[in-house]
Amino acid sequence: MNGVLGGDLDAIGDDVDVIVIGGGITGICVAREAASRGLSVALFEANDFGSGTSSATTKYIHGGIRYLEQFDIEVVRESLRERRILALGAPHLVEQTRFIMPAWRWSKPPTALIGAGVLLYDALSFDRNRRAPDSLRIPHPRWLSRRRLLDAVPWLDRDGLQGAFAYHDTLNIHPERLLFAYAKSASVAGAKLFNHARVTAFVGSQSGGLFRVEGVRVSHGAREREVRARVVVNAAGPWIDKVLATLGRPTGVGVDRSKGVHVLTRPLGGPGRVKDAVFARARSGRHVIVSPWMGKSFIGPTDTPIDGDESSVVVDPSDVDLILDTVNSTMAPEADRLTVDDVEMTTVGVRPLIRTGTEDEGGGTYSASRRHELYHHTDHGVANVWSIGGGKWTTGRATAEQMVDRLFENELSGRRSRRFDSRRTAAFGAFAWAEDADPFLRAAADELVSLGLTTRSAETVARLYGSEYSRIADIVRADADLARAVGADAHDVGAQVVFAVTHESALTLSDVIDRRLVVGTTGQVSRTTLENVARIAAPLWGWDDRRIVDEVRREHDRRIVTTTHWRTPTA
Ligand SMILES: Cc1cc2nc3c(=O)[nH]c(=O)nc-3n(C[C@H](O)[C@H](O)[C@H](O)COP(=O)(O)OP(=O)(O)OC[C@H]3O[C@@H](n4cnc5c(N)ncnc54)[C@H](O)[C@@H]3O)c2cc1C
Repeated sequence: MNGVLGGDLDAIGDDVDVIVIGGGITGICVAREAASRGLSVALFEANDFGSGTSSATTKYIHGGIRYLEQFDIEVVRESLRERRILALGAPHLVEQTRFIMPAWRWSKPPTALIGAGVLLYDALSFDRNRRAPDSLRIPHPRWLSRRRLLDAVPWLDRDGLQGAFAYHDTLNIHPERLLFAYAKSASVAGAKLFNHARVTAFVGSQSGGLFRVEGVRVSHGAREREVRARVVVNAAGPWIDKVLATLGRPTGVGVDRSKGVHVLTRPLGGPGRVKDAVFARARSGRHVIVSPWMGKSFIGPTDTPIDGDESSVVVDPSDVDLILDTVNSTMAPEADRLTVDDVEMTTVGVRPLIRTGTEDEGGGTYSASRRHELYHHTDHGVANVWSIGGGKWTTGRATAEQMVDRLFENELSGRRSRRFDSRRTAAFGAFAWAEDADPFLRAAADELVSLGLTTRSAETVARLYGSEYSRIADIVRADADLARAVGADAHDVGAQVVFAVTHESALTLSDVIDRRLVVGTTGQVSRTTLENVARIAAPLWGWDDRRIVDEVRREHDRRIVTTTHWRTPTA
């Protein structure tokens, strides 16, 4: 048990206590919580771990200040509590970030009300610095004068600008790698986690009016098998209703789906100039968050109700236009406004929102609650199945804790829970719980530089892999060529590719590039980089030269389609 993911389905044995469907943050946290409390667990993810909504976020572990407008105090308080817990558990993968919320004379809500909201947000995070080292401490919010504001964010529209509120939230530096840290925590605790393993059906028996679920059918590559369990947790995020549909009987449970898009652009205000995240709300009432990220600006999200299946989750030209129009309308007339040509890449995900059953009151999914709900399907004539609806990345741990409590109270009531407190447990790979990561990061980076990595590559590996940097170091010690970057557009090194395949169950080029390395999240990936990655991974995957050529072409074409779809104007 060393945190290695994936493997052969036979490793599961005949049955387990809990099957988890879905390897997004919710399912991964359920697997971690359940396994750490002594249950045997198998998790199946249809695509790649974290490849759904969990990798398409705004990248914040946050309280959700804007939910105060909906008086969703409970969600905000729970999220602020989780913000602290997640930061203490993985100090190397988070960064406290100052948010600037500009106030114009025309702002809606008006400045005084925004101020009241910021103060309430601060009050609700009363415990934010408990046990926190200096690097994770969050100061009280403050008012920035117009002059100070324009020093910090020079591109803002000056007309009617009064100043800004400055408050802090926590950057999830690389949500994909933090998700992997939890997945490895689950694996170390004994859970078996499989990606590219789709649950295709429930198996069970009818008894009286109740359908007793006894397991699921899973399809994994060429294999298909049944896995039995005492209880199944459906954590398929936006797709919980599609999974339930395979039961063949109505449950009435589902979520409202809302598409959220971000764009990655040249850095607004110039390279390295703007260090804060800007919460910019336009005259239209729409807001975008402009975050400095990897030397660029990451801007979004949109919030559009959608229906349909996973194939409908694409970025449309109108999504990109909406983001650009919103941010441009908060910029000074003389500022260098953004155009489509400034967009280097986009991300898209689907929020799973709790179905209210009430008619839209005008706010659409934008004003829908981000709370979560646990559905026990015994209420729907189906035994031994739960579904999880709603939630946020930030609240995945809390949701999982509640879910596993319910399992111990119901289907697993005869079982004793092993002592485990995920509120006070470091994520796998964290150097230490609730300690400043900087000294560890510096020592790790120095060691990697001594092995031949550039400073930038070494710092990236130390931060994203935490204590697992030593495994990357071991790979480089065995083959010095693997200290080199995988391409001119990348700081990731060859050893990371090897590690992705041998320890992190990367089965495709996209698995490596988009979630385990950084390069897939910072812009277009050149064909040369794709080839370099493929050549390093090929011997481990058993690919010959022909397969390398085919796979690189296929992945390159797939990326072109994703890139060009939103560049094509709709008819
Ligand atoms: C644009 C946007 C920005 C956001 N920003 C933030 C933010 O900054 N902070 C925050 O806290 N939250 C944010 N959220 C919300 C957050 O991302 C989601 O609430 C969270 O990621 C949902 O996680 P999940 O595990 O429930 O769903 P997902 O991550 O979608 O995971 C569900 C998984 O189930 C799998 N699956 C489906 N069917 C099957 C099957 N039959 N068999 C096996 N697997 C299956 C899917 O492949 C998928 O990977 C944002 C959401 C969006 C859309």
